[in-house]
Amino acid sequence: MRRDQQPALAPSHGSLGTAAPLWPHENSVLAGLTHSDMSLLAPSLNGVAQGPSPKLDLGTLPSDCVYFPDAGVISILAITPDGETIEIASAGRTGAVCPIIRSEFGECLLVSTGATRASRVAVARLQPILAESQTLRATLEACRETLLLQLRQNLVCGGLHSVEQRLPRWILEMAGRLESDIVAVTQEDVARRLGVRRTTVTLIAQRLQEIGAIHWARGRVEVSDRTLLESATCTCYSALRESIGHPGHTTSSKLVS
Ligand SMILES: [Zn+2]
Repeated sequence: MRRDQQPALAPSHGSLGTAAPLWPHENSVLAGLTHSDMSLLAPSLNGVAQGPSPKLDLGTLPSDCVYFPDAGVISILAITPDGETIEIASAGRTGAVCPIIRSEFGECLLVSTGATRASRVAVARLQPILAESQTLRATLEACRETLLLQLRQNLVCGGLHSVEQRLPRWILEMAGRLESDIVAVTQEDVARRLGVRRTTVTLIAQRLQEIGAIHWARGRVEVSDRTLLESATCTCYSALRESIGHPGHTTSSKLVS
């Protein structure tokens, strides 16, 4: 597709609203592709968009695609047969959301945070494209590795660290992926991301607000004092930040418990 052509728009899918244009790509993974790789991929890309929503279940997206967010964040949530959820990995403008293991997501949800726009490609259409480009395979493998690093660190964090540490870590990491000090999210939504009760999130949020680290009201949490909030996190925050400089940079040996 030439830049002067009208971009293709995706049909509405589930809760997805208006479609997003394919050009220009604010997603740094797509923006970093060679012209040759982009020429292979572009005909199969569709734009999708999701407005900010305080309701988690309005943010579900189909899981048979790879997503390249241009704005906002897309997260993968594991879900139990009882409907309990926990966030296992996410990506914003500098990454991509793709199947972490070489099979279907299974019982997972894809949910958005903030006003989200993304380009997506169906996994079925991607396979023959990857067969033609080693560099594109390597790029997507790096994106998958980044998600795997998050999955590993979240396993460590969920098993060894307190919710008092996990909540500030989640806020900081989501703010980082959104490239904003403000995250449009309710406490109930965050409780479902962390796999805890909403009342637990409310209690910890009150403490963080009392010390001036955050301000949370009307479905938006603002990082008021980053240093204070970082001091409340566990070591997972700094470990993951050092390990994921960009989708292709992985130093998993630095991950600590
Ligand atoms: Zn932790």
